[in-house]
Amino acid sequence: MNNKIIYLVLIFILSCTKNDFSQKIYFNGYIWTGDLNNPRANAIVVSDDIISFVGTNEEALLMSNENTIKINLNGKFVTPGLIDNHVHFIPGGMQLAQVDLHDVTSKEEFQKRIYEADLILPEGKWMLGGNWDHEKWGGNYPDKSWIDDIVNDRPVLLDRLDGHMALANSMALDLGNITEKSIDPIGGIIKKDNQENPTGILKDNAIDLCRELVPADSQDDLDQALHRAIDFALSKGITQVHDMGSFSDLITYHRALSSGELKIRVKLFTWYTNWEDILEYVKQHGPGNDWLKWDGVKGMIDGSLGSKTAWMHKPYLIDDNSYNKERLSTVGLLTIKDTTHFKRMLREIDYHRIQNTVHAIGDRANDWILDEFSKISLENGKRDRRFRIEHAQHLSPQAINRFSEQKVIPSMQPYHLYDDGSWAHNRIGRDLLARSYVFKSLIADGANLTFGSDWTVAPLNPMTGIYAAVTRKTRDGKNPDGWFENEKINVEDALMCYTINNAYSAFWENTTGSITSGKNADFVVHSHNLLSTPPESILDNKVLRTVVGGTDYLF
Ligand SMILES: [Zn+2]
Repeated sequence: MNNKIIYLVLIFILSCTKNDFSQKIYFNGYIWTGDLNNPRANAIVVSDDIISFVGTNEEALLMSNENTIKINLNGKFVTPGLIDNHVHFIPGGMQLAQVDLHDVTSKEEFQKRIYEADLILPEGKWMLGGNWDHEKWGGNYPDKSWIDDIVNDRPVLLDRLDGHMALANSMALDLGNITEKSIDPIGGIIKKDNQENPTGILKDNAIDLCRELVPADSQDDLDQALHRAIDFALSKGITQVHDMGSFSDLITYHRALSSGELKIRVKLFTWYTNWEDILEYVKQHGPGNDWLKWDGVKGMIDGSLGSKTAWMHKPYLIDDNSYNKERLSTVGLLTIKDTTHFKRMLREIDYHRIQNTVHAIGDRANDWILDEFSKISLENGKRDRRFRIEHAQHLSPQAINRFSEQKVIPSMQPYHLYDDGSWAHNRIGRDLLARSYVFKSLIADGANLTFGSDWTVAPLNPMTGIYAAVTRKTRDGKNPDGWFENEKINVEDALMCYTINNAYSAFWENTTGSITSGKNADFVVHSHNLLSTPPESILDNKVLRTVVGGTDYLF
């Protein structure tokens, strides 16, 4: 206690003598700090961009001087800045200006949206975007005629919401030279009808046959997309994202950083085909700074549950109801073209102290990468390396314990459960369903569970993820008490996954992730007290104020 008083006096003297730094006092809040040593507070003092005090109103207001800006939080709920563990950020910003089909539930609505988008797009420009989900109109795959009927004078390529499937119109297929004679590329499928004609549906690597032809975005397009994404993220209370991006995104981020427009913190995990570029970049420029870090690489070894390409131990169920009557069963696939090269790459990245994260959804894929991580730790020696697995959706019984045992971080996106829970039983058996999205088990076992959105696959708003993790309700409304309700977690645990756990997963826990004296001033003021709000109302929560590095954004 004595120490605390001395500390307060020191702060007071400091605030009287040194008036050249800017000071803000946020008082009268209900503050959930995310800091286990000081879990609740009413006031935060910010000096320049750093939190200099967290505690009671009286203590905080004692520190004010004539230049202090005092902000009354009116009893509102405050959390640390929310962190999203998995976004596709610049494409997300692009998509904010593209055709959006994520909530389409019929062919009519699908065609109406395309018609509207066609009216705005400049002549000759590819129509892109999509985010459609055929499960929302009963599970029938769309085909090229859905687009051709409306748009046939420009190429159109529309992704399914998981990015593992896309629908092309005839013009895009022609440009990609995709005909009845085309054979499937490695790791991809060109869907064909009874007459061997391509239907327009392209899966995984087959999508690239068209995507490769889309002209590159201009520098200005990219800058604008990033600014759109940043403003959108701030409005949702997000102060830090972990971007599963590309090497060229790094250039866009650098432009924003040097022009002072990078208003949130970004940890970039570059797509693995550019791993050597990142190695070289880190060698020359170091790992990054307080706003932008680029010392991460993202690999990928399987597909998704929705496209039946997630790599499983047991075959998928045969779906008799499917319009497309996919009679052949499959276990999904390992999507790496050259396994030897991939394994060598993982080792090289780790050796150079760059963080590895790998996309793995199926139980077999998760076992495979956990095995690799275990071997690499032995080969390259013991160290604090924080391997991550993106999604970690379906786990074998032994895998659940391996995350804490091996200190591998499950980087999960709870809102996928809200979607998948409606139809996953058509894909996999009950034993594996019970080992899907096992939030509670992973936390109970001591894993550093982290949450995010996978935007643009799912909505960016962290409230949708918290809602999904806490209620485990599903889109079809058939699980009012929760889909495998034993895996529900409480709001506080979900907030930990969105804050300090996420900061840790990017090696940023010393400066971000909680409202703690000495850390960056990143926090959010909410309309609802999430700790006392009924779970059904979590989605009603609005962000009123987002503070990043001491700068306030009001909504
Ligand atoms: Zn993703």
